[in-house]
Amino acid sequence: MSAPDLYEVFAVKYAHHERRASANFIGGDPHDGPMPLDYFVWLVRGAKRSFVVDLGFNAATAAARKRERIRNPADGLRLLGVDAASVEDVIITHLHYDHVGNFDLFPRAVFHLQDKEMEYATGRHMAQKPFAEAYAVDDVVGLVREVYKGRVRFHDGDAELAPGLSVHHVGGHTKGLQVVRVQTGRGWVVLASDAAHLYANLEEMRPFPIVYHVGEMVEGWRRVRELADSPAHVVPGHDPLVMRRYPAPSPEFEGIVARLDVAPRD
Ligand SMILES: [Zn+2]
Repeated sequence: MSAPDLYEVFAVKYAHHERRASANFIGGDPHDGPMPLDYFVWLVRGAKRSFVVDLGFNAATAAARKRERIRNPADGLRLLGVDAASVEDVIITHLHYDHVGNFDLFPRAVFHLQDKEMEYATGRHMAQKPFAEAYAVDDVVGLVREVYKGRVRFHDGDAELAPGLSVHHVGGHTKGLQVVRVQTGRGWVVLASDAAHLYANLEEMRPFPIVYHVGEMVEGWRRVRELADSPAHVVPGHDPLVMRRYPAPSPEFEGIVARLDVAPRD
């Protein structure tokens, strides 16, 4: 038997948003203290192939949405020695404004997306504000243009992209949300993206209020747990605790990059 393909996994923080806890749960929060969100792109680095997961928003979107953009996501990846211009595979978990954009920075990439996400982002529900407001039409149109260039690789459900790396449709938050499962030195890690914005959404089973289908969201939590080797192998999509629980790959990257293929600190 040959050795399994093991990957290193990194979260790169590129933005931050102060908000109250009540904005993070359906039904609000009885204490309603500060409960900010961080914004990440992720790097999955293998010996043979590497994958970038999500693209992050650009400066114009940050200004329009009043989000604090700390760095260009491509500059964050450069800290890890990755040149965005040479990246060949980008997995897009879903098309919300904070996960796409910046296509121009990745001129060689193929974009991996679920069929259902493109259908959702260009279909009937986008005529309705509760579903449309987390999408940026220019980013969606931008990805449609990439489809016509032959650069979008569509997946329907579960798909192995490389040995030890697969995508899995969960839906819920959006109709076509997918999560990423990666084999690492500590076992199977799941990048949950917005299947769980925060540890609290998943651990306390309290749904995030931007949602296409609550039943699918709750079922998605079960699926994410099933795909991961333990609850500590699930990485939420927006939780500032990720930066505290996981070590930086080197001291100068503290608070910027977290290494997810090693065990969390607590
Ligand atoms: Zn998000």
